[in-house]
Amino acid sequence: MNEIITDVVIVGSSLAASGCAKRLVDAGFDVIVLERHALPRHKVCSGILSPRGHRFLFENFGPLPREILHEPTFCKGVTFHFPSMVSIPMDFFGGPTPHLNRQFSDYWAIKRSGAAVHEKTTFESLQDDGKSVNIIAKKAGAEIRYKARFVVGADGPKSRVRHSVYPDYNKTIPWFMVGQKFQAVIECPLDDDYFHFWFHPELGYYTWSHARNGRQILGVGFPLGGNLHRYHANVEEYVRNKHGVKLEKAEELEGCSHNFGPSLINRYVFGKGNVLITGQAAGFFNMIAEGMSCALHSGAIAGESIVEAAQSNRPVQQVYRSLIASEVRRCTDQWNPFRIIFSNPHEADFKAALFKLDKQDQKLVLKDIWRFLKIYAPYKWGRQILSQSLIREINGEYLPSRWL
Ligand SMILES: Cc1cc2nc3c(=O)[nH]c(=O)nc-3n(C[C@H](O)[C@H](O)[C@H](O)COP(=O)(O)OP(=O)(O)OC[C@H]3O[C@@H](n4cnc5c(N)ncnc54)[C@H](O)[C@@H]3O)c2cc1C
Repeated sequence: MNEIITDVVIVGSSLAASGCAKRLVDAGFDVIVLERHALPRHKVCSGILSPRGHRFLFENFGPLPREILHEPTFCKGVTFHFPSMVSIPMDFFGGPTPHLNRQFSDYWAIKRSGAAVHEKTTFESLQDDGKSVNIIAKKAGAEIRYKARFVVGADGPKSRVRHSVYPDYNKTIPWFMVGQKFQAVIECPLDDDYFHFWFHPELGYYTWSHARNGRQILGVGFPLGGNLHRYHANVEEYVRNKHGVKLEKAEELEGCSHNFGPSLINRYVFGKGNVLITGQAAGFFNMIAEGMSCALHSGAIAGESIVEAAQSNRPVQQVYRSLIASEVRRCTDQWNPFRIIFSNPHEADFKAALFKLDKQDQKLVLKDIWRFLKIYAPYKWGRQILSQSLIREINGEYLPSRWL
């Protein structure tokens, strides 16, 4: 059977893949991107890009065209809501950021990377013989074989590439489900210019709402196996009673499972031999489920590592694990209590907003946050976050020995 030979195969055509492909193509590598869906493909996402993600897209791919944005086209920041009915709006540093339509933004970015894209092609398995990686993929039921010097798994939370390298990994982490419904608005006092997030332990593990194309999105995250309709109905009733949000019956529903957790406790997965894992597949996930900026940056670092390894004839894992430490710091710092208290690892100033409240409200908010965090107690992340954070303060780095 014929084999397609290239320098690098990237699995996935999303943002981590675009960042990676851009670096490789710019350095003169032949790159093939495999995407299981027809393009432009749909992606479940709020699409609120962080300022850092916006800078990356602009600097690497140019000004964002109107067609890749939803309405409202920009988001000013985030509003946190608490059970004590205190609400805290916070603007992003540097002004509003784009509200991406992931179907079109991801397609735009991967095209602009210059890589060849093989759509409707599903990665199945790989074999790394030390010199090259043999890949089996499927298109319309037929097998296609690729041979590449390097493979990058940029294939998201359920990464098949990660599974090929670490078959048991998925069983070792907790899984969450996030689901959102789109509803026509009867009345909605929530400010359209902000992304709204609830720190409410009785609503869900992650509860959000924002405006999109004339409708309101109401979403909720919970441990996998929970019932989305029940969680959603509870949130809908809560926002109606407490915030006066009146919505028509949901017209559309979507959801997916999530590997939330590895970035909090510095348990990333970066691959083995000539196979690199990046983006959310590697565990990158910033606070409030912001995963686009770290996908772009970690993807770019995976690409740079391949270029550097090929030029210096060093093992690519060694180079990747050294270069990726900066993105690990950025991402895990967002969950590090010392960084949150003594510096500001986020792109909006929660502390300044909190200090603007009167003393009574400050106490209520801190109590509410503590009650919210307690729902994560069964995952036993608290001690790991504290120990990793302490090591970061002492060594200046998170421990690479915890990475797979
Ligand atoms: C409901 C929700 C809301 C979110 N809101 C935001 C937000 O507002 N802001 C933000 O920054 N982040 C948000 N995120 C997170 C963000 O969407 C992800 O973190 C980010 O898309 C990860 O990018 P990635 O490139 O690593 O992977 P993904 O975007 O998951 O892309 C993986 C790609 O690989 C392809 N693929 C998978 N398996 C295969 C295979 N076997 N063969 C070929 N192709 C394959 C997929 O089709 C996909 O195109 C949200 C996520 C969810 C679920």
